[in-house]
Amino acid sequence: MMFCKAEVLIEEKIMTGSYVKLYNTGQLRQIAKRAVALLESCSLCPRECGVNRLQGEAGVCRTGRYARVASYGPHFGEESCLVGSQGSGTIFFCGCNLLCRFCQNYSLSRDSDPDCTEVDASGLAELMILLQHRGCHNINFVTPTHVIPQILEALIVAVGSGLTVPVVYNCSGYEKVDSLVLLENVVDIYMPDAKFFRAQSSAAHTGCADYPVRMKQAIVEMQRQVGDLVVGPSGVAERGLLVRHLLMPNGLEDTRELVRFLARTISRDCYLNIMDQYRPCGEYSGGDGPEDCSHPISQRMYEKAMQLAEDAGLRRLERKDLGSLLARLLIRSDQKQR
Ligand code: SF4
Repeated sequence: MMFCKAEVLIEEKIMTGSYVKLYNTGQLRQIAKRAVALLESCSLCPRECGVNRLQGEAGVCRTGRYARVASYGPHFGEESCLVGSQGSGTIFFCGCNLLCRFCQNYSLSRDSDPDCTEVDASGLAELMILLQHRGCHNINFVTPTHVIPQILEALIVAVGSGLTVPVVYNCSGYEKVDSLVLLENVVDIYMPDAKFFRAQSSAAHTGCADYPVRMKQAIVEMQRQVGDLVVGPSGVAERGLLVRHLLMPNGLEDTRELVRFLARTISRDCYLNIMDQYRPCGEYSGGDGPEDCSHPISQRMYEKAMQLAEDAGLRRLERKDLGSLLARLLIRSDQKQR
């Protein structure tokens, strides 16, 4: 079905991003306007800095009026249901509202990397279209919390240029529910990293003792909006919630409480990826962090965490599959050579 009104409308197909509908009814424009107005005294995230980002002031996230992008491209290292055969179309934003002390992308989260480049709505839209043209199955916004208004503005331009693939909100979990409400029927797949469940852990590693409360509220809201993860017949995710959990060397108690929360409060079919990639980076590198966080995750600890998730009753756990990861990387290298 093609629309033909004063404004160019986009054909709505099955499996397209839900934001296309909002664009066609004019609601996306209204939501973006409301979101941009919030930048005047920024309270987009729990930090509630109150700075005027419309005037270029920056708060904790170190980002003013426009988003800054570090890199973009098809990513083959994400969960297999996001990667498919063509990759997940990642756009990495600079700046962050959480600022983990052990961050693996420390210079990007602190916006001190020379690759960080400011983009306006048209520039950001151009990246999305480029990724869709390259065959990516989705647009995967990495660290998007502090640039929700900028993403919404850019989506208007991108949909006008033909963007239709699902949108992934790949965040730290340190969110405000009021801001997530702006994304209802815009985001197709929520992917929060539920890092800490105890206030003492989050306070130690980020300085944000309220992280667990905010993260739990956020995941409840995400589940309300999109429900359990739906994966299509080709194995690619279409819509829903995918929770990540970065396992910390001293964090098994957080893991135990998190998996119980997910199984009891969210859903036993909540898709969970327990990640064992922790390395002492950022302020923890060179032996400067806490003694019990100076080493990577052992296989034994990873297996214990997976067991905790199973014991809690969770039925959809991402399994480490080195064979399929290798296959995906080979596809990528083959595509590069062509
Ligand atoms: S988005 Fe940035 S400026 Fe706004 S409240 Fe959060 S950290 Fe502060």
